[in-house]
Amino acid sequence: MKIYTETFTIKTSRRIQVIKVTEYVEKIVEKSNINEGICHIFTPHATAAIIINEYEPRIVEDYIKWITEIFRPGGGWRHDEIDDNAHAHLASSMIGSGRILPVSKRSLVRGTWQEIMLIELDGPRERRIMVQVLGE
Ligand code: ZN
Repeated sequence: MKIYTETFTIKTSRRIQVIKVTEYVEKIVEKSNINEGICHIFTPHATAAIIINEYEPRIVEDYIKWITEIFRPGGGWRHDEIDDNAHAHLASSMIGSGRILPVSKRSLVRGTWQEIMLIELDGPRERRIMVQVLGE
């Protein structure tokens, strides 16, 4: 089995923001020269998350609305006493820091409307995304 690893960074510009990163990941999968396997996309941060779903302006607004409603920034959380970002930790822990996609014929397997997105939950910051492609 081969493993190919590459990390890239994204500068975010808002507190809660959705950024499409599909193209970055697809280029890495291509470079990996792995034909069949899996691709793990991971962000090593406690206040960011990775999702796979549709990237369309209205649903992107809905992701942000949903995160704000469920995780309530400034909602009286204990951790807000330390650094005012409890909502970001809660959302990151529930949504998840990574996702796995199949790789076949040297490319990512994904549905027409499935894009890979970084969710910034406590920006603006610089975020790292690590991509590991495993297979043959
Ligand atoms: Zn914190």
